[in-house]
Amino acid sequence: MPEKKFNDIIMQEASEPIAQWRIGDVIVTKVTETEMLRSITASLPNADIDTVQSTLWLTEQFSLEENHIRFSFHSLIIETASRNILVDTCFGNDKKRPSMDYCSHLNLPFLERLEQAGFTRSSIDTVVCTHFHADHIGWNTTRTETGWEPTFPRARYMFAGKEIDYWADKFHAVPHGTPTDGMTAAFFDSVQPTISAGLVDRVSTDHRICDEVRLLPTPGHTPGHVSVVIESKGEYGLITGDAIHHPCQLVQPRWSSGFDLDSAHAMHARTDILETAIDTHALLIGTHWAGPTAGRVEHDGNAYRLAR
Ligand SMILES: [Zn+2]
Repeated sequence: MPEKKFNDIIMQEASEPIAQWRIGDVIVTKVTETEMLRSITASLPNADIDTVQSTLWLTEQFSLEENHIRFSFHSLIIETASRNILVDTCFGNDKKRPSMDYCSHLNLPFLERLEQAGFTRSSIDTVVCTHFHADHIGWNTTRTETGWEPTFPRARYMFAGKEIDYWADKFHAVPHGTPTDGMTAAFFDSVQPTISAGLVDRVSTDHRICDEVRLLPTPGHTPGHVSVVIESKGEYGLITGDAIHHPCQLVQPRWSSGFDLDSAHAMHARTDILETAIDTHALLIGTHWAGPTAGRVEHDGNAYRLAR
């Protein structure tokens, strides 16, 4: 994909689109759709730029560029003894996103890349979306001649009931059923068709999916936001979702994402995840973290850092 610029956003191809980790007997594979550079002030409005730029582990591992920070948009596929679980489905192709030019009408080879990593559409039996923002639900559906169809026809789509209710209420309040914002439009073309196809299991925010994988409620970014806990043979992994948008937030968990709907709850969720990751020595896998994407967390004075 050629680089594309939109105001304070630059969309770029990922340098390492596929990566893999092992947690006990479980394998986690990252398949990247795209990366984005965005200014620190737009991404984390209350972040201190000097602190970010002088934090060595951040600059070394996450290669900050001037006043921009890098985000990755990837799916994480969790392979257990019984399931192939696809966590978050990026922006998707061909979607119209009012007021979000950078992710409108994309044409990216995500499904081809998923196959390269060893996963056909029919090999995915479970889809989990940490929340319903447009960058986490896009590949739930693909455009066909008859409309939006589920991309993974053999999968159960496991969605938190709280998240479904929040976005369904917003969608139903839209006059004439034509959303004028990208996030509500996303519910219409990327969630509603999976519900209509009868593929959705409405679950609690602490739902256990199988022996090795369960959801962890981390509300704040959105009301029904979940993170994902992996446990196998005494080893732990933790997928952040957008509770931790960027590793900068380890330096100061108070720094909220501009997309957090409830920043106080989001900060509590962030701190809980970081403490849980330390307690269980979990591999913390970032949903939007570029570069190494994953690492072990340790205390750093009153804050946190990733171990080298
Ligand atoms: Zn996101």
